Amino acid sequence: MMGEKQGLKGGKRRGSISITFNEEACNGCGICIEFCARGVLVKNDVGRPEVVRIDHCTECRMCELLCPEVAIIVSRE
Ligand code: SF4
Ligand code: SF4
Repeated sequence: MMGEKQGLKGGKRRGSISITFNEEACNGCGICIEFCARGVLVKNDVGRPEVVRIDHCTECRMCELLCPEVAIIVSRE
């Protein structure tokens, strides 16, 4: 039987990784940037995170898990 888990984790490694920010929720703390070991994110000129190296993202989801405002979603399309 197939155990559907409501799409919380994509088991397949197809498509491209997408990192989405809820700009209204983001408080600009920079935690996501600091804890991304792959240098995927930088702070932009209005103090918000911006994706600059999506190809370096390992989908570890650390940014998503540590965001105090739950403002990040890492997904695969
Ligand atoms: S951790 Fe969350 S609240 Fe902090 S800068 Fe990143 S997206 Fe914004
Ligand atoms: S999922 Fe991991 S590697 Fe990708 S941006 Fe977030 S912290 Fe960085």
